[in-house]
Amino acid sequence: MSAITGQDNDALRVNGGRLWDSLMQMARIGATKNGGVTRLALSDEDKQARDLFVQWVQEAGCSVRVDAMGNIFARRPGRDNALAPVATGSHGDSQPQGGRFDGIYGVLAGLEVIRSLNDAGVQTLRPVEVVNWTNEEGARFAPAMVASGVFSGVFALEYGLSRTDGSGLTIRQELERIGYAGADIASYPIHAFYELHIEQGPILEAENLTIGVVSGGQGQRWYEGDFSGQAAHAGTTPMNRRRDAARGLAAVIELAHDIAVAHGPLACATVGSLQVTPNSRNVVPGRAGYTLEFRHPDEDILAAMHAALKEGVTGIAARLNLGSSLKQIFSYPPVVFDSRCVGIVRAATAKLAYPFRDIVSGAGHDACYINRIAPTAMIFIPCVDGISHNEREDISEQWSTAGGNVLLQSLLHSASS
Ligand SMILES: [Zn+2]
Repeated sequence: MSAITGQDNDALRVNGGRLWDSLMQMARIGATKNGGVTRLALSDEDKQARDLFVQWVQEAGCSVRVDAMGNIFARRPGRDNALAPVATGSHGDSQPQGGRFDGIYGVLAGLEVIRSLNDAGVQTLRPVEVVNWTNEEGARFAPAMVASGVFSGVFALEYGLSRTDGSGLTIRQELERIGYAGADIASYPIHAFYELHIEQGPILEAENLTIGVVSGGQGQRWYEGDFSGQAAHAGTTPMNRRRDAARGLAAVIELAHDIAVAHGPLACATVGSLQVTPNSRNVVPGRAGYTLEFRHPDEDILAAMHAALKEGVTGIAARLNLGSSLKQIFSYPPVVFDSRCVGIVRAATAKLAYPFRDIVSGAGHDACYINRIAPTAMIFIPCVDGISHNEREDISEQWSTAGGNVLLQSLLHSASS
């Protein structure tokens, strides 16, 4: 390998056509008839996709290690292999009838970076790793991001391995069945971690931008609430005598919407699940339950939304003469990515002259857990109409190449000192 100066490295680009071909070849595994893929975690299709990834990284000269959660680590050696590696990666599993790019794009772009470094004969100071994280989606085994969570110490290994799918099979059983049960979890220092992913939202495309520099992820608060009134006959109970619990639902849906709008543009509120009892056409509902979730990247704003919700629900119950309960059942703090890594992504994007903006991730990603143990940042590219978790999910080859180049330059920067 030739000695390459920093100047020369600035001119390095990925082979966008090769990256696209790899994406299209991978998309045949688990392909659905409407142009998407179904590659549920640890299914036969996931095994085929893993086998192909392993074959490709080995052909690119990487050593491969699989940990106890089935995470696959492909390593390209550096000049000093005692130094902590620089790593990138994402997930290879998909939603049922999901898209061809969610997750796997970040894995294959990492592979393309390694192929491009090989082509150019560049030897980095630090080793460079590409990771394929197990079961990010949580579609087959809940919770989502369980394997990067175990790697980051968020979950115990035993907890991760004992998660079950709808038919009672555990992650441990399925890892053994497909031959991806590694010996240990072996967390180790990572110098910097970059995850490249499609945005899964409409902002970048709508603003004609090619790259999103992800500064962090939204925090979440999940609630379960319920209103209680009086079940009553739908024909004999005059309107002024009713205590209709479902009216509480109508009011709380509007309340949640108004709270999010008042804390816009980044706040989100969703009342996604409703349960009316007894759920009969001819009975005034006596009970009405709901789930509610808030998202925002700032913990203080989430706290303000929480206070507004409590006050609002109390007001609704009083006005409609209903009993009410409201419980916060889950809280996930906002993710703030490493300012240095975010700066490296921003600088690389600017140097490559791609139009970009800073953006907050509305979805959870493996990088959100890795951020707890290593300096981390994410790179987004647009996706058509913001559609994801859908067979119609699509990106352009030009966006794909741009993301690959930003990833290449960010990794090179972090791997060189
Ligand atoms: Zn994903």
